[in-house]
Amino acid sequence: MDMTEQKPVTQATAAKVSPMPDAETVTQVQHYTDRLFSFRVTRPQSLRFRSGEFVMIGLMGDNGRPLLRAYSIASPSWDDELEFYSIKVQDGPLTSRLQHIQPGDQIILKPKPVGTLVHDALLPGKRLWFFATGTGFAPFASLLRDPETYERFEEVIVTHTCRDVAELTYGRDLIDDLLKDEMMIELIGAENLAKLRYYPTTTREESPKMGRITTLLKDGTLFRDLGIDGIGPETDRAMVCGSMGLNLDLKEILEGYGLEEGANSDPKHYVVEKAFVG
Ligand SMILES: Cc1cc2nc3c(=O)[nH]c(=O)nc-3n(C[C@H](O)[C@H](O)[C@H](O)COP(=O)(O)OP(=O)(O)OC[C@H]3O[C@@H](n4cnc5c(N)ncnc54)[C@H](O)[C@@H]3O)c2cc1C
Repeated sequence: MDMTEQKPVTQATAAKVSPMPDAETVTQVQHYTDRLFSFRVTRPQSLRFRSGEFVMIGLMGDNGRPLLRAYSIASPSWDDELEFYSIKVQDGPLTSRLQHIQPGDQIILKPKPVGTLVHDALLPGKRLWFFATGTGFAPFASLLRDPETYERFEEVIVTHTCRDVAELTYGRDLIDDLLKDEMMIELIGAENLAKLRYYPTTTREESPKMGRITTLLKDGTLFRDLGIDGIGPETDRAMVCGSMGLNLDLKEILEGYGLEEGANSDPKHYVVEKAFVG
């Protein structure tokens, strides 16, 4: 093309056509309740992460600046795309808008994964516990689909507590698919998937198992239901992801069993991450 034929680009046009930095394209959206949805986006080629980590994602704000929030990557590290599991806060700066995304839309994704809910932060053990409430299931959705989780442990127990039954759907469907999907069975191994135990509970709506996980731990119900003697530092490792209050309560319970908190630089018996701030 003859460059002299190009029309001068005005400031306004340039701003409009300039691509959003760190843009990724939405490929799939699924809604579960009026408060929960999940979506998948393209994965930046350069992005490497460890299953369980989180990144900053968001949308361009009205002021022209990115509006970003921390989000756990719910897909495993081997997946071609990235999956996220999200709350819809009706007056939330990001999610009041994010809940309306459609396939083909773009979101911002900063490709700098971090986090403590990773295998590297735990010492080897026999049994791995994932304790999640609400969207705190997201990092475990990643780890549950990672073969390493089953290679490192003899038993993997995931507890998920929500107020209502419908709020368990994302996790329940994911685990059902994991156990049925031929590709996943081949990748992880049927004998490895047999190590997985799922323990969903609700706190408000009637369901087969009701109660806060902290109560069910303290009164021994969880152990009786699973036929397990208890939790101890020789055998058990745990990852916790819930509200600040839940995390603090679980920390106290786990420390009471003799477990110590680990970090990437100092792996120990359990790790904790906030599912959200506030
Ligand atoms: C390390 C980390 C990882 C996170 N991972 C996820 C994730 O995978 N999925 C996700 O939906 N959110 C996640 N969050 C929360 C997320 O960063 C935002 O807070 C959320 O997307 C709402 O953004 P907002 O701008 O709409 O509202 P905000 O102004 O951020 O939040 C408004 C209020 O809504 C409530 N709230 C926010 N997030 C949640 C939530 N997830 N569950 C219940 N109540 C909430 C809180 O009371 C908060 O004060 C994570 C937060 C942290 C710190």
